[in-house]
Amino acid sequence: MTNASTPLQVAKFGGTSVADFTALSQCASIIVSDPTTRVVVVSAAAGVTNRLVELTQADLPNNERQRLLKEIAAIEYAIVDQLSGSEIRAAVDALLTQMANLVDRISHCTGDQLAPLADSLLSIGERCSSLLLTQVLKQLGVDAVNFDVTRVMRTDGHHGKATPDCASLTLNALEQLLPLTENQVVVTQGFIGADDEGNVTTLGRGGSDFSAALLAEALGASALAIWTDVNGIYSCDPRVVVDAKPIAELSFSEAAEMATFGSKILHPATILPAQRSQTPVFVGCTRAPEQGGTWIRNHCESRPKFRALSLRRGQTLLTAHSLNMLHSQGFLAELFAILARHRISVDLITTSEVSVALTLDQTGSDSSGRSLITEALLEELAPLCRVEVERDLSLLAVIGNHIAHTSGIGIRVLDAIGDSNIRMFCQGASAHNLCFLVASSEVEAITNRLHARLLN
Ligand code: ASP
Ligand code: MG
Repeated sequence: MTNASTPLQVAKFGGTSVADFTALSQCASIIVSDPTTRVVVVSAAAGVTNRLVELTQADLPNNERQRLLKEIAAIEYAIVDQLSGSEIRAAVDALLTQMANLVDRISHCTGDQLAPLADSLLSIGERCSSLLLTQVLKQLGVDAVNFDVTRVMRTDGHHGKATPDCASLTLNALEQLLPLTENQVVVTQGFIGADDEGNVTTLGRGGSDFSAALLAEALGASALAIWTDVNGIYSCDPRVVVDAKPIAELSFSEAAEMATFGSKILHPATILPAQRSQTPVFVGCTRAPEQGGTWIRNHCESRPKFRALSLRRGQTLLTAHSLNMLHSQGFLAELFAILARHRISVDLITTSEVSVALTLDQTGSDSSGRSLITEALLEELAPLCRVEVERDLSLLAVIGNHIAHTSGIGIRVLDAIGDSNIRMFCQGASAHNLCFLVASSEVEAITNRLHARLLN
């Protein structure tokens, strides 16, 4: 734990916030404006990780490979060109050479060798960003240091979606990172870590928020600021509902539901470490910090019945039918054991006498972007049950307080859904949400009706 008299904030900047030199300069001015910001976590520049993911395919045609490498180099060098000194160019040159070598090795490799190489390749985006932001800060006279997060972010060896080891992270961070913050601003990478043997791992797409929350927890930070391209969290995605309203303050429980149910602003895993360590989280816009943002904390003044709507597209509904389920024990345990072996986390579940329906989505998927439902999974499920898969569904969650204990909520929600078909309906497990699954083609209209009736 840090000394309460010397508060330390962790600030995380996302891909659009580090996309170019202008954006990096805005990050720097936010860092400079608050001297308690001592640890800065960065994502890869916008578009870089997507390209690196494409480059992890061993069978990519060579011209595609060359095009992607060039596009990444163009993004990074456009920033280098605005910086002074030959050292930074040499450092970026070295990283991009490493990138090209990894891509070359991937193109010749098969099987088990691929995953560790892919994670090393994916780490290049975050490594470039931290190097570049450090230099921008230095040029402004800030004593900044680029810190390799793999020295402290210990994870298991599950490439593409590694699980951090919080105890090791805390020990390492207090020993190796915290002392640096006394005199320097430490700039480090989100998304990446390393296993016990030092092999680079990644935490899954969008994992930088999670990294920042884990580091804030490990360092006993006084606050975590997530700087992104929107000025906080809204009552619904403003691209879907034009009169969605900004939310000044949210509880951890509400924020966790929102992140889980599709508000893309925070990676769903982010809230847990923050809540565990009671670290308040601020979400604001790098381009317009003066607009304020959303504070997420344990206790907040307002606890409205309806706070927000979250929408998650691209849902898959998997229904498992089995007559063996009738009056038997252990069917669900077996089903979930298989899903767990395939690293699939289940979201919603409903059951009947002989079937169980569950939703899956890509949020919990690994860094490679592969589909969750693989042939291998279906093969393993086949002896147990008959499986039906439905796609193109969307999940809509009503987020608020005391939902499970307030009468009349169901009728208001159902009334707004009107005569659209509800494919699944879940309520009861949490006081903070009620959610249902509908066809993606209908979800925007339903969301607008619900927002108008519950949140205006
Ligand atoms: N760069 C990684 C991604 O695009 C991690 C992150 O941005 O949070 O998924
Ligand atoms: Mg993100």
